[in-house]
Amino acid sequence: ESIIASPEVVHYVCKRFGIHMSKKLGQNFLIKRGVVDEIVHAADLNAGEPVLEIGPGIGTLTQGLAQSGADVTAIELDRRLLEVLDTTLAAYDNVRIIHGDVLKLDVPDIMNHKQFKVVANLPYYITTPIIMSLLESRLPIERMVMMVQREVALRMVAKPGTKDYGALSVAVQYYTEPDIVMDVPPKAFLPAPSVTSAVIRCVLRKEPPVDVVDEKLFFRVVKAGFEQRRKTFSNTMKTTGLSKEEIEMILEKANIDGQRRGETFSLQEFADVANAWHSIK
Ligand code: SAM
Repeated sequence: ESIIASPEVVHYVCKRFGIHMSKKLGQNFLIKRGVVDEIVHAADLNAGEPVLEIGPGIGTLTQGLAQSGADVTAIELDRRLLEVLDTTLAAYDNVRIIHGDVLKLDVPDIMNHKQFKVVANLPYYITTPIIMSLLESRLPIERMVMMVQREVALRMVAKPGTKDYGALSVAVQYYTEPDIVMDVPPKAFLPAPSVTSAVIRCVLRKEPPVDVVDEKLFFRVVKAGFEQRRKTFSNTMKTTGLSKEEIEMILEKANIDGQRRGETFSLQEFADVANAWHSIK
C-alpha cells in the first residue's frame, strides 16, 4: 500500500518536519495515488531490478517503486528531506537514498555499472539538462519513465514540420522510442504547478533508427538545423563554420534541397547531411 500519496498525508508530513516546498528546487509533490500507480506500472519493474529515482522528495513515488520489489536508488539534492525520507521509507529495505545533485554525481558508479531504469517526477527547472545528460552519457538504461511539463513531453514526441519539433525531439527519438503515458493536471501536486504535466516513457533503442557514421557531426548538424528557425537550411548551416561552397557540396551529395528549413528534416535527412559532411572531410 502506498501511504503518502494523498493530500492529507503530504500536508501532515510536511508540517511535522517543518518542510516548506522550495520553488527553486522544483518541489511539487505528488498527492494522487492513481498517478503513482500509473508511473510504477509504466516502469514495468521486476523484483530485484535496479531503478534510479531522481528527486524522491518526501518519498511518495519512492514508496510505490519500493513496493514493486525493485532495488531502488534515489538521489535527492535537498538535505532537509533526508530525515523525512528516513521516516517515510523506514519500512523498506530495498531503498537507498543518496544525497547530491544528479547532474554532478557519478551515476554509472552509483548504479554499479549495471543496466537500470530511470523513474522520476523531475524538477522542471532542469528537465532538459537531466534528460540530455542521461541520453548522451550512453548509460545502460533500459527505459526512462518521467513526469515532465506536458509541453516538454509534446516536444519529445514531435514529428518533423510541426511547431514542437526541435533538437530535443531529434535527440530523444534518436536514442529512444518515446510515448506519452498520461496527462497529469496541476491538482495532482502540492503545491499545484502552473502548467499541465505528462508522464512520458522513453524505451531506449538497441540500435539507432538511422545510420550515422559520426554521431558528433550528426548532432552538430541537428543543432545548426534548429539554430535559426526562420532561415533556410543552407543559411543556418553556416553556423557550423563551413563555407558556402562546402555546404553546397554536402547538400548535393546528400540530395537535399537547401532552401528547405531544418525544422522539416527527418532524422534520416539529418543523418544524410551528416554522413555527406563526413565523407568530404
Ligand atoms: N518524487 C517526489 C514526488 O513525486 O512527490 C518529488 C518530486 S519534485 C517535482 C522534484 C524533486 O527533485 C524535489 O524533491 C527536489 O528537491 C529534487 N531535486 C531538485 N533538483 C535536484 C537535483 N539537481 N538532483 C537531485 N534532486 C533534485
